[in-house]
Amino acid sequence: MALVVRNLALDLSSPEDALPELAARRLKVPPNAIREWHPVRRSVDARERDNICLVYHVELTLDGGAVAERSALRRIHGRNVDVVKPRRRHDPTPGTKSLPHRPVIIGFGPAGMFAALRLAELGYQPLVLERGRPVRQRHRDVLRDYYRRREFNPESNILFGEGGAGTYSDGKLYTRVSDPLVREVMELLVRDGANPDILVDSRPHVGSDKLPRICWNIRNRIERLGGEIRFESRLDDIAVGDEGIEALVVNGQRLEARNVILAIGHSARDTIRVLAGRGVRMEAKPFQFGVRIEHPQDVVDRWQYGTLAGHDRLPPAEYHLVAKGAAGRHGDLFSFCMCPGGQILPTNESPGLIATNGASKSRRGGPMANAGLVITLGPDVIDADPLYGLDFLERWERLAFQCTNGSYAAPAQRASDFLDRRDSNGTFETTYPFGLAWRSIRNILPPEVSDALDRGLRMLDGRLPGFGGGESILTGPETRASSPVRIVRDPLLRQSPTCTGLYPCGEGAGYAGGIISAAVDGIKSADSIINEYAPLACATAS
Ligand SMILES: Cc1cc2nc3c(=O)[nH]c(=O)nc-3n(C[C@H](O)[C@H](O)[C@H](O)COP(=O)(O)OP(=O)(O)OC[C@H]3O[C@@H](n4cnc5c(N)ncnc54)[C@H](O)[C@@H]3O)c2cc1C
Repeated sequence: MALVVRNLALDLSSPEDALPELAARRLKVPPNAIREWHPVRRSVDARERDNICLVYHVELTLDGGAVAERSALRRIHGRNVDVVKPRRRHDPTPGTKSLPHRPVIIGFGPAGMFAALRLAELGYQPLVLERGRPVRQRHRDVLRDYYRRREFNPESNILFGEGGAGTYSDGKLYTRVSDPLVREVMELLVRDGANPDILVDSRPHVGSDKLPRICWNIRNRIERLGGEIRFESRLDDIAVGDEGIEALVVNGQRLEARNVILAIGHSARDTIRVLAGRGVRMEAKPFQFGVRIEHPQDVVDRWQYGTLAGHDRLPPAEYHLVAKGAAGRHGDLFSFCMCPGGQILPTNESPGLIATNGASKSRRGGPMANAGLVITLGPDVIDADPLYGLDFLERWERLAFQCTNGSYAAPAQRASDFLDRRDSNGTFETTYPFGLAWRSIRNILPPEVSDALDRGLRMLDGRLPGFGGGESILTGPETRASSPVRIVRDPLLRQSPTCTGLYPCGEGAGYAGGIISAAVDGIKSADSIINEYAPLACATAS
């Protein structure tokens, strides 16, 4: 048995070594009664700016073992202390049917990658088809060809390639999904190179500098276990018969397949359109639209930490803000994917579009902080056409590109100028690789988004003075927060009701909203195949 003592607060001058003594006091035992201890959760409590502290949950054992631990629990009536429950892995039970072909996974982002890892670990020798390139070549395509030469590669970019959108993402790993698989995914990430701190931090973050290596390690592991990953292999089409999926068309070639996990992300608009044309059932879903807002990081630190800004025990500050009701019938304007010390990235998957998102490196040491400021459109904006949102977003992204004369510079405006309806001028440092072009941001936003931004910025500026000021830069549009389409699936079988054998999953199918939720969704789709079929090695032997 072991205990977890919750919510032990350390002031910024006390080292972590002071934790056992605090825990002992809570348990009413002498400090030397604690045999082993380690922190299992760490967060910053900055609610009171003159009393910022670090808050820990500590797991420990006592001298005297279970007897001493139970007696301590009784003594303090279990307040703020839990018994550690043994964790059970939820491995699926392999089925007995024979697989006619290897299971195929389309897309090697977090959903496809973790589906492949699961299948490979249990002997199913998955075949992964990924349209983009391996991470090293992808880096060249992005950093040299796109950033430096402005030569955009529609198959290898910030969204497409090994690791999917996850590779260039910020790597924040918090999720609202509550599932034992969340912990399992985090542990798998640590096994392949993520900092073990992600298992302890309340706001775990990997960083875009560490993610490529982790993806590479996971790919090698899948290959060692009998999986195969084919890069530069794009799913162009599918062949569907009475029994469901029969074959895939990949780079123009037919490939027989009966069990296909579709993990294509939400930016594979071409593939989504092809599948819709083949009768794969889809429906429109709510999606986000807004801008990126960028401030100097030291300003954000002062908002959050006051005079303690810059303290070496405090991480670069984050915010999560909601301007309640600012979007009228669309609800709130809210911040999304905040990247302290980060960079704004061009997240288009086709030439001639501008879409923005943000990321940061593991140390979050950059001078600027950025975040999405978005509203949710739908359901009343959503048309009966399932692909309405896709076309809608693309129209605005194209307009943004045209409004900066096709230069890939992002349209930008100072927040104060946006509120006063004036043009911005002067120079400003930006992290966006192609620079900014001063434009009226209202011209690249649907009216409901501009209005929400107008109201919301004023509300947030009232709370954080300067949030909507002259040092605050709006760029946009921010249109890739979530998928505007859901590829319908049976909730139990996880297969398309109109295409048996096709398992839509991850963010692109509308079932995930980030790295961890996509990975968990991918594992669950793999488990559906595992539960039905025997592993390939077994089937071949029998
Ligand atoms: C800049 C940025 C920052 C982000 N920051 C965070 C963050 O901090 N935390 C977080 O949780 N999430 C973040 N996200 C979101 C996160 O990256 C996604 O939610 C996640 O990657 C979705 O995983 P997925 O596997 O469903 O899809 P994707 O990661 O989009 O992967 C889909 C893959 O499918 C491939 N593909 C598409 N079509 C085809 C085809 N026809 N044939 C073959 N392959 C195909 C693509 O090339 C791609 O590799 C960020 C995203 C971006 C762009």
